[in-house]
Amino acid sequence: MKNKIAIKLTSYFSIALLIFSIVIGAVFTILFKSNAINMHKKELENRALAIAETISELSEGSGLNFGSMHGRMMGLNMQSGLGSYIRNLDDIAMTDAWIVDENLNLLTTGSMAHMKYSYADLPKDADIVVNNVFKGYTTFSEGFSPLLNTPTITVGTPIEASGKIIGALLLLSPVKGIDNAVNMGYKILSLSIIIALISSFILSTVLALTFTKPLKKMKNTAQLLAEGNYSAKTAIKQNDEIGELASTIDILSSKLDEASRESEILQKQRQDFITNISHELRTPVTVIRGSLEALCDGIIKDPEKINDYYKQMLNDSKSLERLVNDLLELSRLQNADFKIDMAEINLCDVLKDAIRSASNIAQTKNIKIEYHHNKDVFLINGDYGRLRQMFIIIIDNAVKFSYESSKIYIDLKGQSISIRDEGIGISKENLPYIFDRYYRVKSIENKSGTGLGLTIAKQIALRHNINLSVVSKQGVGTTFEFYIK
Ligand code: ADP
Repeated sequence: MKNKIAIKLTSYFSIALLIFSIVIGAVFTILFKSNAINMHKKELENRALAIAETISELSEGSGLNFGSMHGRMMGLNMQSGLGSYIRNLDDIAMTDAWIVDENLNLLTTGSMAHMKYSYADLPKDADIVVNNVFKGYTTFSEGFSPLLNTPTITVGTPIEASGKIIGALLLLSPVKGIDNAVNMGYKILSLSIIIALISSFILSTVLALTFTKPLKKMKNTAQLLAEGNYSAKTAIKQNDEIGELASTIDILSSKLDEASRESEILQKQRQDFITNISHELRTPVTVIRGSLEALCDGIIKDPEKINDYYKQMLNDSKSLERLVNDLLELSRLQNADFKIDMAEINLCDVLKDAIRSASNIAQTKNIKIEYHHNKDVFLINGDYGRLRQMFIIIIDNAVKFSYESSKIYIDLKGQSISIRDEGIGISKENLPYIFDRYYRVKSIENKSGTGLGLTIAKQIALRHNINLSVVSKQGVGTTFEFYIK
């Protein structure tokens, strides 16, 4: 019972075909029998009409009054052409042929003329037929014939001479002959149904197995995915719903694979970050503690040196504060419930403010910031402080990764603001990750980086519906672009 769908499909298919066969058989039985009887009746009628016409002609040609022949038919007139025709009537009619008169007297029974028959030997309702025949109609009846001892079709047609009906020609044909034909029809139909059932069973089994094969493949792939093997693929190429499902599973597996790689990278970045942060936190704390110990112990006596120690401690506490603030800011921004203060502000003012505050660090490297703008007012709804922080992060990075005496270009055009430097650039491998949390490239230029700056900038941009993108080429420079939607 492993391949349940295949068994179900085969069963449904076979049951459907069986029902179809039964219905077709029943319809065939009804239609075939009635059609066969009708055809037989028609054929019998044609024969009866032809014979009646011939008898009429012979009767008139011989000048005999067919009606007066009663009682003599089987004697005197049997010598004439009409007589021999009537003698061979059964052969001509290819069935039992009777001629009766108006008074229901039997005139002749063809080749069995020598035998004594009475009207009682005719089927039960033959009298109705004869009555109708003498009214001028060709009539049928289906009844049991005591003579033939079987259900019989009787057709009666008038024999006319000189415009008068002189007798009724009755042709009797057993239904059995038709039944035989119908039975033969049944046999052929049954045989065809059996052959159709067997071949459909084989065909449906093959079809069901072909149908379930890709399903099995998909199940195996899903199992492998569940076990964590994200490289598993169904490799099914079919242009139908199963093919679509299989390609969806393949897409899912690629996505899972991608997600798992990303999660590995993230995990690694997180570990790197903890190592970094611990180092970042420990270094100033250790320095501050060492300086304080030296001061407390009174080892340092020179007032100038004491001053240097204080300055050093102040710088270290500032970098500690910056780090803690960054962490706090990022965790706030990443919290969807944290609302930032929105107000109508002039983005040009924010940008100028950020350039001003970054200029001090730029000057230390003799870097010139060139600001080009085609407007002085760019009103948006936002948080002044955070947007300023966002620009400062990007400009600070531009300064940090630029060569001494180079230039930084800031352009405000339409809805976009770009910050371009001519610095070291970012490699293709690192570019996709620079906005990720804790991601930083260790370099001489970036000794103090925590990998939080761009993540914070991106979060601020997101909160203001600003699209922040980057284009960079190693050794050429980097451009960050803000598009205000
Ligand atoms: P960090 O504190 O290390 O600067 P950021 O998130 O601000 O962290 O930047 C992440 C990384 O992106 C940096 O380590 C650096 O490698 C790269 N980067 C950012 N800005 C630039 C730039 N203008 N030029 C070259 N590299 C840059």
